[in-house]
Amino acid sequence: MAATDGLKAGLDALPLLPANRAPLAPEYPWPDGNQAAMFLSFDVDAESAWTAKDPARYGELVTMSFGGYEARVGTPKLLEMLRQQELKATFFITGWSVEAHPAMCEAILKDGHEIGHHGFHHLMPQPGDPMLVEEVDRGLDALKRRLGVVPKGYRAPSGEFCEELRVLLKARGLVYTSSFRDDVRPYRHLLADGTPGLVELPVTASYDDWLLGLSQRYSRHTLLTREQVLSLWTDELAELRDWGAMATTVLHPQCSGRPMRLRLLREFLEHARTYGDVWITTGEQIAAHFAACEAGG
Ligand SMILES: [Zn+2]
Repeated sequence: MAATDGLKAGLDALPLLPANRAPLAPEYPWPDGNQAAMFLSFDVDAESAWTAKDPARYGELVTMSFGGYEARVGTPKLLEMLRQQELKATFFITGWSVEAHPAMCEAILKDGHEIGHHGFHHLMPQPGDPMLVEEVDRGLDALKRRLGVVPKGYRAPSGEFCEELRVLLKARGLVYTSSFRDDVRPYRHLLADGTPGLVELPVTASYDDWLLGLSQRYSRHTLLTREQVLSLWTDELAELRDWGAMATTVLHPQCSGRPMRLRLLREFLEHARTYGDVWITTGEQIAAHFAACEAGG
């Protein structure tokens, strides 16, 4: 059979329906008169960002050092800045990072931040992946055993998802995910069997620092300047605030823990606070607010 026959069969089998059939996001008001929300979140991948696709890279010590920066410098400096700003954030941590860098993770916990699930080896969740369940369960085990944490939130490593994962996370008792790109407000997933799934706190590329200049290591992205990043971030915030929507940051301590990036993040957070009505908080808080509104509370 020619390859094109396989393609045709696959295309002919596609449902003529949206891939995500969740109802539109309800326009619940934000609490305390806030006009918009910012889900302040970090993805702590450390070296697992670099070994997920090729474990042999563990022997490439300079490549590993990009991830190692996270535990040595990036995360401690970000924690210091968040203390100064009196802000709480969510840190989605891979199980591997919890095992390899327990002190870094304990410091995050000690400062009262929320800790979320980010896989174990940072494997991109793909349909039919035989490691899908192990990634979730090993991640849960590492968080519980090392930190005593039972996470409410999940962010998909490398931002991919599939129906098996939606079902699995619900079965494991997770409350929300922050992975999809199809809205600017929280909404509730609808599983293929018609039952409700987790709450989604959607993300956008605008606030993903990995795309805004980490380094040239295995990356085609250039290093963007402060002015470029700040204008992206402030323009996005200004408009989404007018919409009554939410911003979700996807920041990595190996990017935003660099001196220039940390300075720019501090400046952006200070700018956001000048509005006086942008609720800067954790995913747990936003998901709980959504669930309360949904329940009519
Ligand atoms: Zn990640």
